Order: sequence, then structure tokens, then C-alpha cells
Amino acid sequence: MTSNKQPEVNIGLVGHVDHGKTTLVQALSGEWTDQHSEEMKRGISIRLGYADATFRRCPEAEEPEAFTVDEHCDDHDVDTDHLRTVSFVDAPGHETLMATMLSGAAIMDGAVLVISATEPVPQAQTEEHLSALDIIGIDNIVIAQNKVDLVDEERAMQNYEQIQEFVEGTVAEGAPVVPISAGQEANIDLLIEAVQSEIPTPERDPDEDARMMVARSFDINRPGTTWDDLMGGVLGGSLVGGQLDADDEIELRPGREVEEGGKTEWQPVTTTVRSLQSGGDFVDTVTPGGLLGVGTGLDPAITKGDALAGQVAGPPGSLPPVHETFTMDVDLLERIVGDDGGEVDEISTGEPLMLTIGTATTVGSVTSARDDECEVALKRPVCAAPGSKIAINRRVGARWRLIGVGTLR
Ligand code: GDP
Ligand code: MG
Repeated sequence: MTSNKQPEVNIGLVGHVDHGKTTLVQALSGEWTDQHSEEMKRGISIRLGYADATFRRCPEAEEPEAFTVDEHCDDHDVDTDHLRTVSFVDAPGHETLMATMLSGAAIMDGAVLVISATEPVPQAQTEEHLSALDIIGIDNIVIAQNKVDLVDEERAMQNYEQIQEFVEGTVAEGAPVVPISAGQEANIDLLIEAVQSEIPTPERDPDEDARMMVARSFDINRPGTTWDDLMGGVLGGSLVGGQLDADDEIELRPGREVEEGGKTEWQPVTTTVRSLQSGGDFVDTVTPGGLLGVGTGLDPAITKGDALAGQVAGPPGSLPPVHETFTMDVDLLERIVGDDGGEVDEISTGEPLMLTIGTATTVGSVTSARDDECEVALKRPVCAAPGSKIAINRRVGARWRLIGVGTLR
């Protein structure tokens, strides 16, 4: 039994800052993955922290105690069986990183919402992140009621009831609430059981065209590397459909901005897949699930500094259209999410909006606004299929705040 199976599903870890997301990932994965090359790890994880965890089952124990992340069951002195490797995407809790949370949500198949039992529910980002899940339509949710080691039973029950009240009428209504202590590694078996039943691996069609959402892009060469030793540009992200093989030809859209005759335009970029990294290994083939590193034949100058983040990759000719302007149907929230949230005013012509579409975040200017639709001109074009969900943020005071969801026409 290998311990390095490729992850098959992406699970977001969301919730208020300090409620224990990172501690929980550590409890589930042993440690932050150190299997990836330092550059790859640094590249993909800074903005979108992630770690792979392998769920296992002790063949001799009763459920739920049988669920574990350990390779050996000490109680029964047997090796445990591999169930599934999952990839946790640890969304940053800080409010100003909401856009990052939303672009992470584009590659999540489900989410664990971590709520501390020590504070009133909801805290600001608990609410903001749940709205984001609502908007992106992620409804496979498990709620981890964390830090129960710090409260007595009465407070734990009160907190549990606050959680139930808070999720009523949201995508998380009916989601299991599992009391845990990530810090003490208590009830981790119950949490695994809940994740196994609530967040199944999506069914995939292997004949579908490969579709990769690019979340990061970088140059892994050290300064001063000579031309002979120069490695091609690297893409980090997640495959959401099909399968990708080493040596495949891929196209990236929107591609790159090219100046021709005093005019700038965006042109798709085509390259070859030179290497694939998933689940800590170099592999020949990847299927959806987990964070993926793709070594390409691109000039690293094109990929460095996240220059291609937010783009889409797949077989040449198979990608959705690129939009510099688009029309979207708009569904506004009633109130701005968060502690000081006021009412959401209609969108007006001329106002700037920050839009997250897939893993792309771009600022757009509203060129025409009607009741429930609006037209925007984008600073940077996006590649997206009709029907794509768009998180709409408006500048309120010093911050971008989530005000609604759009659907691409
Ligand atoms: P994050 O911001 O959501 O990633 O939260 P962290 O995982 O960084 O945890 C914030 C603080 O809470 C850290 O000091 C943790 O050690 C502590 N913590 C997390 N989980 C638990 C728990 O279950 N019990 C206790 N007592 N402390 C915890
Ligand atoms: Mg954290």
C-alpha cells in the first residue's frame, strides 16, 4: 500500500481566523505537505495553502473509531486500509483575502466549515465564507465545531444551537456538525466519517477534454541560471475535468498580451506538458482532484509572478471563449456580509466592481446596469463558459465587499 496516492477530491477549509483551520489540516495530514519541491510548495501554497490527507480505515475496529489517518492501528496491531486521499485547500481567514477564498472556491468539491465553540456564532468571516459557498454553489459541507476542549458541555450545547440557527436557510442547512478538538486530535474519526459521507468524490467523465484552472504560475529557476539549465515555466492549479498526460499539447487562454502595430491584444499561448506533479509525485497522467503542478515548455518569463494565474488550460481549440466585456445576470445579496454590513444598493453605471470568475479575479467597470443584469468592461479579459458563476464585490470604504453573484450570459 503506497501512502502517496493521488488526491481525488478538493475540500476547502473555511471559517473565521483563529478558529483552527490550519491546526485541523495538521491533525488530518500529519504535517503540511513537504513532498513537493520547495519551489512548487512555495508557489502553490502561499496564496492557497493546501495539504493532502489520506483517510484510512482499521479493518479490525468498529466504525466510527475505525476511521483514521494513521497507517497502523495500534489497538488491533494491524495495518490500516487506504480509503481515499483528499486535498485540503486552506483558505486564508483574513477578510481582505476574500478574493483568494473565492478563487479557491472555484476548485473546491466540498468544504469543511470550522467554527470555534469558544465564540458567539457567527464571527465575521464565518458568515462571509458561508455566503461565498452559497454563491459558488458548494453544498457538500461538514461543520467542524472546534475547540470543544476549551468549553464545558453547557457552552458547547449553546454554541451548537447557535450554529444550527445560523446555517438555517443556507447551503449548510442540514450539514452534520461534528464537535472536535483539532488541537487535541479528538473526534477526528467522526469528522472523517462525516467527510466520507457528505463530500463524495464527484463522478468524472474520463473522455471529457482536460480543463485546468490555473491558480498560480511561476518561474522555478534560481537567479543567474544559465540558458542550458533553464527550466520551463510552471503552472499550479487544479484539473476540473478530463485527464492530462505528460507530452500533451495545451493551450492557455486568455494567453498573453501582445503589442502589434501600436495595438495590444490577447493571444492564446500553446505549449507542451513536460512534467506533472500531483500527490507529491511526478506522474505521467493526472485526473481531477488535488493541486497540480505542470512543468511546461513556456519561457519562464511568461509564467513568473503569477502572470498566468486565473487562466484556463486545455487541449488547443477546446477552451471557452475569452471575454473583454460581458453581460451577466445579477443576483444581489440583501445586506453586505460581515459585522458592519449595510444594505446593498443597486449596481450603477460607471462603478468599478471586482469580479471573481473561476480562479480569475479582475476589476471591471460597469458600462450599463439594469435591474437584474449588467454589462462590464474588464481590465483583464477572462476565459469562461456561459453559465459560469461570478462573485461580485464592491468597494465599500477601504475594502472590497461581496455584494452578490452573477451568471455569465
Ligand atoms: P486558523 O486561523 O483558522 O488557521 O487557526 P489556527 O489553526 O492557526 O489556530 C488558532 C489558534 O487556536 C492556535 O493557537 C491553535 O493552537 C489553537 N487551536 C486550534 N484548534 C484548537 C483546539 O481544538 N483546541 C485548543 N485548545 N486550541 C486550538
Ligand atoms: Mg490558518
